[in-house]
Amino acid sequence: MTGPDPAPAPGSATAVDPPSRASPELRGFARTYWEAAARGELRLPRCVACTTFAWPPRPRCPACGSDRIDWVRTSGRGVVHTFTVVHQASDPDFRARVPYVVAMIDLDEGVRLLGNVVDCAVDDVGIGMPVAVAFAPAGEGLAVPGFRPARVT
Ligand SMILES: [Zn+2]
Repeated sequence: MTGPDPAPAPGSATAVDPPSRASPELRGFARTYWEAAARGELRLPRCVACTTFAWPPRPRCPACGSDRIDWVRTSGRGVVHTFTVVHQASDPDFRARVPYVVAMIDLDEGVRLLGNVVDCAVDDVGIGMPVAVAFAPAGEGLAVPGFRPARVT
């Protein structure tokens, strides 16, 4: 029986630096979502047969069961349904961001999604606040959709 492997010395070739941000995985059914986000588009899967959004992403319509799903570009506009302010994070990248807001956003298209509210003080976020999608770079040309305050037109 052998003992545990010795920990690598700091700065050694085997030490692993914490990632700057976890990149989205471009695989599976949601690949289209991330490819659209990289282009600055918020696209969501919608049933061709009955126009119900298949969100969270799924290959069949949750209303009628059809597998005819199209990815439609949304306005990216909506309102804060509810939110929380995160003050502690174990992940090194997220720890560097605290405090930050995680919110449920009701899009104008009737879909509710989860995302960060950015570009404003956490104390300025409120339920019912109008927001618009904003894309944060995530490395390798990818982007993560978040939301920033928006003026109502
Ligand atoms: Zn359907």
